[in-house]
Amino acid sequence: MEVFYKSTRGDGTLITSSQAILKGLADDGGLFVPNYIPKLEISFEKLSLMSYQEVAFEVLHMMLTDFTDQELKQCIDSAYDSKFDCPEIAPVRKVGNAYMMELFHGATIAFKDMALSILPHLLTTAAKKNQITEDIVILTATSGDTGKAALAGFADVPHTRIIVFYPKGGVSHIQELQMITQKGSNTFVAGVHGNFDDAQTGVKKMFNDEALKKELKENGFLFSSANSINIGRLVPQIAYYVWAYSRLVKEQAINAGEEINFVVPTGNFGNILAGYYAKQMGLPVRKLICASNDNKVLFDFFQNGKYDRKRDFILTSSPSMDILISSNLERLIYQITGEKEDECRKLMSELSEKGEYTITEEEQKQLSIFEGGFATEAENAACIRDTFDKTGYVTDTHTGVANCVYQKYVAETNDQTPTVIVSTASPYKFSRSVMNAIRGTESDPDDFVVIKELEDLSGVAIPSAVKEIMDAQIMHDHVCEIDQMEHTVKQYLGL
Ligand SMILES: *Cc1c(COP(=O)(O)O)cnc(C)c1O
Repeated sequence: MEVFYKSTRGDGTLITSSQAILKGLADDGGLFVPNYIPKLEISFEKLSLMSYQEVAFEVLHMMLTDFTDQELKQCIDSAYDSKFDCPEIAPVRKVGNAYMMELFHGATIAFKDMALSILPHLLTTAAKKNQITEDIVILTATSGDTGKAALAGFADVPHTRIIVFYPKGGVSHIQELQMITQKGSNTFVAGVHGNFDDAQTGVKKMFNDEALKKELKENGFLFSSANSINIGRLVPQIAYYVWAYSRLVKEQAINAGEEINFVVPTGNFGNILAGYYAKQMGLPVRKLICASNDNKVLFDFFQNGKYDRKRDFILTSSPSMDILISSNLERLIYQITGEKEDECRKLMSELSEKGEYTITEEEQKQLSIFEGGFATEAENAACIRDTFDKTGYVTDTHTGVANCVYQKYVAETNDQTPTVIVSTASPYKFSRSVMNAIRGTESDPDDFVVIKELEDLSGVAIPSAVKEIMDAQIMHDHVCEIDQMEHTVKQYLGL
């Protein structure tokens, strides 16, 4: 049966999956959600014999039903290839009392590669299917990580261009190096004299500039974004939950059908929402444990049903989780209101106007699969150190939050259900914080010295993604003023 997509704030109008991928966000400001969630049609025994690509296909073809099998296989094979540094794509390892699913073997050694490596292919295929002949121009402002992951995903993908603006001086030295050494004949990176908000505002202005859009169209280009709320990013993330389960079956750590838990270090709620969809597709999941850092809006929400963003924004050593508005939560809210667009719209406008909303007790009851937890900076550092001392395994700071929350959960509940911790970044991505945690003292000021120390300590070779930037050639040195962003885009596109 075909799956269609509709907006969480709309009138129930249905569009195809390829149209939803092309649109990204609905015109009414809502997010696209599937009109129903199909059950997996294949046994876990069969899945346990499959490769990552094959498991991904089993998930994607259920959810993206207007793509042909051939199209999906091509997208999957172009995404999950030698850009990943191991053939399993997402290895699952036993560490202490849990399993670590490592989602950091892609081009930028963090989990966003899982979705951003396939999105460009889904997007260009969707364009073809919908008779769009223009080349797609991805325009992004970045505070560091997403820009690089998008660059790596779109590099050399035919019929696409990618333009990334970052605040000059507002990202880390390593993040800047990662971006300005990006290869690919269709990539363009520019520093902006301004902060991230300035760059973001500049990009939004271009997206809403009708005259610019017209000029682009006349020259064969169409703007699009690689935003994390695109279902073309969300659906591929369901695949690795099914994959992790199938690996535990393969290793005979569980019997097919037995329930497991997942612990997910959470920011925008995209990753864990994919786990929730996996459960609805029939994956035997007992608990989805939502791990937060000191910005524990979600922990509080799962405690008392009140989402309250009115609090100080705390900078932590797990920056990708420093978020006070988790956009993807809207999809969960929509579902627990019984798919009532009016109710969802009301709650979301309360959030933007008053900074908070509260769900009903009835709605709260439907969240019983979720368990909220949080780890403070000190708890996280202690857990990273303790895990290394006991097992020799080094986690990054985001995975550290998840691991810490899990250890607290086990101590409180004595839940012995086999558990997978979703590991979202390589420790090499956050070498300094990781080494500080393990040592208990401040590390050498030179990042590359710290990286070498981490290699000696962990015995895990420096990933090629990091090695490459140590001596890579600078490919992009363009810097512009905020009011020159549009000019820069036009110049690059030859308009
Ligand atoms: C983006 C990110 C997260 C948060 O994922 P969400 O889908 O936004 O919840 C966690 N860890 C790392 C390393 C990330 O890059």
